This record gives sequence, C-alpha cells and structure tokens, in this order.
Amino acid sequence: MTKNTSINKRVERDDQAGTPSERPRIVENTIIFPASIDPDAVKIIKRLKRYGHKAYLVGGCVRDLLLGAIPKDFDVATSARPRQIRRLFRNSKIIGRRFKLAHVLFRDKIIEVSTFRKSPAEDSKQFQSDGLLILRDNVYGEPRDDALRRDFTVNALFYEIEDQVVIDYTTGFADVSNRRLQTIGPPQIRLCEDPVRILRAIRFSCRLGLEVDAELRAAMHESVSELSKSAHPRVKEEIVRLLACGASCDALEMMFELGAFEVIFPELAEPLDRKATYFNSSLVGREFIKAVASRADRIDRGRRHYSDALFLAVLLSHKAGEIIFEALSGDAQVHDRAALIDEELRPVAMRMGISKRDLNRVKQIILAFPRFERKKWRGRPRPREFVRRDYFRETLEFYRLVSAALDRDPRIYNRWLERWEEWQAEEKSSNRSSGGQQSRRRRSRGGRRRRTPAAGSDTPPPPKKHSNGDSSE
Ligand code: ATP
Ligand code: MG
Repeated sequence: MTKNTSINKRVERDDQAGTPSERPRIVENTIIFPASIDPDAVKIIKRLKRYGHKAYLVGGCVRDLLLGAIPKDFDVATSARPRQIRRLFRNSKIIGRRFKLAHVLFRDKIIEVSTFRKSPAEDSKQFQSDGLLILRDNVYGEPRDDALRRDFTVNALFYEIEDQVVIDYTTGFADVSNRRLQTIGPPQIRLCEDPVRILRAIRFSCRLGLEVDAELRAAMHESVSELSKSAHPRVKEEIVRLLACGASCDALEMMFELGAFEVIFPELAEPLDRKATYFNSSLVGREFIKAVASRADRIDRGRRHYSDALFLAVLLSHKAGEIIFEALSGDAQVHDRAALIDEELRPVAMRMGISKRDLNRVKQIILAFPRFERKKWRGRPRPREFVRRDYFRETLEFYRLVSAALDRDPRIYNRWLERWEEWQAEEKSSNRSSGGQQSRRRRSRGGRRRRTPAAGSDTPPPPKKHSNGDSSE
C-alpha cells in the first residue's frame, strides 16, 4: 500500500509509466477533503453500495481534486447496470446511443453514473476493418477494464469515498503528482482509436498545466490527419470545450502548431496568414484569433458563462470578417453580406453540427461589430434600437474582447455599456409600473433551454467597465 502524506510530494518517476498493472495501487492520505466532494455524488455512491454494488468517483473530478482544482462535475462509475441505476434513482434517466449510462438529475446539475465497461477486443467486429477507429464500446467489465479503456492515466483514477483512498490501475497518481500527461498504453494506438483524444490532450495540458509526454507529443504530430475521420459533432464539441477551457489561447497555439486547425477547418485556415482588416487590425488572422481568445480566457476563466455562439464567433471571426470586408469593397447591402457569410460558412457549420441558431448569432455578432465604432449613424438600427436587439449583449461582449485585444480606447465599450444599463433601468421601471406583464411576455419568448446545465448559459457574465481592456478582470 502506497502511503503519501501529501500530493505535493513528488512521486518518483515510474519506469513503467503509462503501463497498466494487474493489481491497483491503493493510495491513502491524498488530501482530498470530504467537504470538497459534491454531497449528491456522495449520496449516490452510498446508495449504490447499500444495494450491493461497487461505486467510485471517477475521471476528471478525482484528477482535479488531487490537483487542487475545483471539479466541473462529479462522475460516478459503478458495477450496477443502467437499468438497476434507473430503478434506484427516481430522478434519473438512461441516455446514450453509443453506450448507455444514467444521468441523475438535480435542479442545478447532472451527475453521470456509468457502468464499468471495457474496450472491445482488437479482433472484435466493433473495429473498422481498415483500422483502429473504435465505432462501439458498450461492453461491460470490471473496474480494471473501466480504468484501462480511458484515455489518459490522469483520467483513470477511482476514489473510494468511505475508505478515502485512490485506486490506481495505471500510473495516474504519479502522473498527477508530476503533472504529466500520457495515454494509457501506446499513444499512437490510443490516438488512432479515437483521434478526438488529440484535442483532449491539448485541452488537458493547457488547462491544467500538464506536460505532454514526449512519446504522446510525437504521436499527436503523426496522427493529426486522423482527426478528419472522427465524427464531426464530437470534434465540434471538443473544439467548443477547448475554446471555453480558460486556456484557449495556448490551446489554439498548440492546434496551429500541430496542424490540427487546418485538418478540421481547411476553409478557416486558408486566410490565417492575412491581416484581420475587417477589425481594423494589423495582426494576421492566427494572431488576431489568439489575442481575442486570450481576452476571453481572462474574462470567462473557464467558468463557461459565455455561450457556445460567442466562442464560435471568436473562432469564425477572421474568416467571416474577410468575407464581409471583400463584400464592402463592392456595393453589396447588409443583407447581401449576411447571405455571403451564410453561403461560405454554412457548409462548415453543417459539417461540424453547428446549429443554425448559433451560426445566425455568429453572423449577427460579426456583422454588428463595426457599429460600435461608427461615428455617424446612417440608416437603421439607430443606437437606441441597437441596444434593444436580442443579440446586443453578446455582440457588445465580443466587441469588448476585440477592443481589449487590440488596445482600443476603452471609453467606447464603456459608453455602450452605459447605454445598455440605462435601457435596462428603463425597462425595469416600466415593468414595475405595468406589474411585470412585459417581462413575463419577454421571458416566455426566450430561446431553447439547454439539456445540460453544466454546458453553460446563454448569457454573458455581467458586463463590467474597463479602463484598458482587462483591468476589471
Ligand atoms: P472535464 O473536467 O474537462 O470535464 P473530464 O476528464 O471529466 O474533464 P470528460 O470529457 O467529462 O472529461 O470525460 C469524463 C471521463 O471519461 C474522462 O476523465 C475519461 O476518463 C473518460 N473519457 C472521456 N472521453 C474519452 C475518450 N475519448 N476516450 C477515453 N476515455 C474518455
Ligand atoms: Mg467531465
């Protein structure tokens, strides 16, 4: 039994790093405080155990607790089958087509409870005939199998809440302690099985400051073209998570360096070396996107207060800006410009599973951008009408990011923010005098609700004044 008085104690580098072991290492005294574990996750585990099942905390939450970070969510792994879980928790439902698992639903969160499962055997029909790509992996197994099917050693740890021990079938505990990212087993194989793991490696290393193992880094370079084989909506999901992780500037840099951006978005990569003229910037596209992303990192800090659309606007800004800039050189009208963006970006959006709603919002954000710095207002909407548009807040937030990234005069953003606040105050007082009728009507026309509360909210964080773009963060 390994005894560690503190996770900060450097664990000796294991020569068998990344190699699975038959019997788990049990690590005690890991300074995970019971109070830092979600009480609902604790209740779920206790109930599963009371009914004779094994149940542990697993994955990202154990990794984050050991790293001293606040877990985004708590996942549970158990020997109970999805239908048994469903029967034990009235507030649960079974989800998943690729593999079935249970979601236990609470007012403000969802706790994912999954049955231990294993990777399909290599000779199984669940592998594509011409390669390693995993198409299905719904085979139940033991805790060890479940640990080994996971992507990185740091993501394969179980935490037994009653004994307060970490159960480690790989070298995850040592790797967390040494802040090292490596796959379970040979990286070349694990990345080819599921190339989305390349994006996950980028996200974990940038967000958590983990050093990518040399062999893994080489495999990421070698297998980057495999990303084109992954299901596009999964890639899009990982890209949004990467943009929202609070370290998106570094993550984008790594994507550019690996060539992952070109593989996933060839249409967006083409203008990356040209200047972001639409935004009146002398930065070339890749630097412009990184600069804006870095502001989003500072403001949102991985808390996911921004919507997917706002993050996608950062990603698509340069290409969309170029399209409009070219249109401006001709005599196209505003609605023509929107149609032009649509024509060029819809194929990317459809391929990646970006919703029509998000793409429309991206278009509104980018098209409205020059209005903030306009000296004379010709045509509609007038400034008063502009602040009332439903896309105004996100557009203003995007302007805030760009203007801070480009060191623009902060008074422009602050003035618009004041206009918006004045309008909010007017709305409030007119609502009060009309007995709240208007606000009820307004809310009932609100957009689609998200399935997962953890996926973020549509509203940007409360706007703040700033003096030079980031003093308020
Ligand atoms: P985060 O804190 O960002 O949510 P996470 O580690 O919880 O990070 P998730 O995507 O929520 O990441 O996945 C939960 C767990 O499922 C991971 O920790 C990992 O063990 C496993 N997992 C997720 N995606 C994969 C994958 N593509 N291949 C293998 N294992 C995976
Ligand atoms: Mg997670």
